[in-house]
Formats: sequence, C-alpha cells, structure tokens
Amino acid sequence: MLNDHRDLYNAALVERRDAYRMGGVSIRYGDQSAQLKDVRADDADQARWSFSSQQATLRRVDRAFAGFFRRVRSGEKPGYPRFKGPGRFDTVEWPKDGDGCRWDSQPDNPTSRVRLQGVGHVKVRQHRPVAGRVKTVSVKREGDRWYVLLSCDDVPVQPLPPTGSTVGVDLGVASLVTVSEGRQIGNPRFLKRAAGQLTAAQRDLARKKHRSKRRRKAVARLAARHRKVRRQRLDLAHKAALTLVRDHDVIAAEALNIAGMTRRARARPDPDYPGRFLPNGQSAKAGLNRSILDAGWGVFLTVLRAKAESAGRTVVEVDARHTSQRCAACGHVAPGNRVTQAVFRCLACGHAAHADVNAAVNILRAGLARQADAQAA
Ligand SMILES: [Zn+2]
Repeated sequence: MLNDHRDLYNAALVERRDAYRMGGVSIRYGDQSAQLKDVRADDADQARWSFSSQQATLRRVDRAFAGFFRRVRSGEKPGYPRFKGPGRFDTVEWPKDGDGCRWDSQPDNPTSRVRLQGVGHVKVRQHRPVAGRVKTVSVKREGDRWYVLLSCDDVPVQPLPPTGSTVGVDLGVASLVTVSEGRQIGNPRFLKRAAGQLTAAQRDLARKKHRSKRRRKAVARLAARHRKVRRQRLDLAHKAALTLVRDHDVIAAEALNIAGMTRRARARPDPDYPGRFLPNGQSAKAGLNRSILDAGWGVFLTVLRAKAESAGRTVVEVDARHTSQRCAACGHVAPGNRVTQAVFRCLACGHAAHADVNAAVNILRAGLARQADAQAA
C-alpha cells in the first residue's frame, strides 16, 4: 500500500514538474484529484486502495509545492520537492473515519482492530483509550514497526479545580523546565547521550557499502535510535507538562519562535527528510545536540498547550528576549549580569540567583503583564 501511494506521489510530482518545465503551467490539486478516477480505472494496483486516502496523498504533493513556492517568494533557499525513494514514504492518511477505513472495526472484540480498505482488519495494540470522536486515521511505518495515529473531535474537557497559582517557566539545557519558584523539572541528560549515539549510528551508516545487507541493518539501527529519542522526549514532555498543569492556573512560557531567533543558532530541519538537519554553521555534534533540544522544547510546548486546554488552564506565551539578561529584582538589563550558564548576579543591585530561575521570574512577569493587557482590551 505504501509503495502504491509512493508511486502516486511521485507521478503527481513528475506531472507538475514537467508541466511547469514545458509550458510554465502550474497544475493544482483539483486537476490531479480529477484524474484519480482514470488512474484507478487503468491501474488495478491503485484501484485497491481508498480513494480518499489517495486524495490525501495528492494533497501532500500540493503542500510540498505550496511550501516550495512560499520559500521562493520569501527568498529562502527553495528546495524543490523531491521524489520519495523506497523507505522515504512512510505514511498514509484517511481524512475521515468510515471512509476507506474504520477504527474499532470489531467493537465486540476485546482486541482493538482497524479495518483498512485493501488490507483488512488489523490488530492494534492501544497505548491509551481513545477520547472523543475519531476524525482522521493514519498509518505510519517507523523502521520495522507500524503505528495507527488517530485525531479526534469533541474530546471531553476535564477541568481541574483552581489552585490560585501562576507560574513562569524557562526552557533550558540543564533541565527541560525551570519554574519561577525555583523548581526544576525534567533533566534531559538522555538527550545529550542520545546525540552521541545518533552521531555514531550515522557515521556507522556512512561507512557501509551501498545496497548491502549491513547497510540495511545500519539504517534500521539509526531509525531505532531516532525512535527511542522521540519516545523519551515525549515522555519527558508529558511528565513536565502534567506537573505544571496540575499545580497552576496560569502558566507563562516563552514563545519559542521568537526565542529561537534571538537566542540560539537554529537547527535547520531538512524539509524533505523529517528528522534530518541541514548544516547550520555549527559543528555536527553541537548542531545535533541543539536540534534535539530544540525539538524537545517544541514538543513540550505542544503537549503543555494540549494538556492545559483540556484541564481548563491558561498558557500565556511571551517574547522571551532579554529575560536571561534582565535582573528580576531591579530590571537592569546587561549581558554581564549572567556570570555563567547557571549563575546570575546583577551588576546594578547585586541580586544573585540561579540564572534559569531569574529568567523564569521575568517570563512570569511578562506573562502577567500580557494577560492584564488582554483583559483590559
Ligand atoms: Zn538588579
């Protein structure tokens, strides 16, 4: 099924490319979707799979081109959409449960199953109960494992009782989260270790001969490492977010895109190969470290927002510029205030604190100010 979807994706890509090269014509999603009927009539392999899932694949081509044109317009390095080689196409999506797929296809059976058109009923090991009404269903291959991903509507909200507490959080390197009251949550030590292992696995892969059995094994090992890092990162994010949401009504955090531009050398994800990164001017190891941490912060904020929403809590995202250099006691801003990565000592008033706690206090203050503005408006 993945291979046929990959063929469809590549064919749609070729069509767009050729039309553009020959006549400067751009082909749209609607044009390609209209051809699906004929494609299915001519190709018995394609006809086996769900029409809607094929439309979803064509929409992916559309998104790839939309991204390309957006990058051209904004003057970025455009990166023309690429062909998906074998093993580079891992997901099929069904936009609507019940249309070419059915989640919980045998409700009376104690084992969950998903029915996929052209495949049949597939046993699923469910990691947690499904909340709400299933909207979309995706199947994803990761190395030698397969996952079913569900997105749901009408997920019931379970508000937590108010605590009267507000908090600011700083996202950092030594610990994932430092709270304005001084607590630190989630030591991402494993991320550093993982960066080392990933670099080693990548180097190992580069040494293997093309199309050899050993190379295939090295690819599988690298994929397994990536998978493990993702799991660990997600686990850490869930634990940290749960603690925060349980204890506080309002959580102020830095808006990552703003912080990223000013504070950190950004990792540059390769648009064509999720999980891979382009050179960003730092050494490979430092870049990988950075990118793993960056992804960790992004995942954490996503999880935090979702948990806060379902618990009836508020997350305020603030511009975190200068929060690491500003004194939380007197407001004096100077790079010299930050003595080391961990130590903050104000050059004006002498206030001393853990650098991340000082930043978290500033973020809390900025968050409360923003909230007050929003309420006044
Ligand atoms: Zn001060």
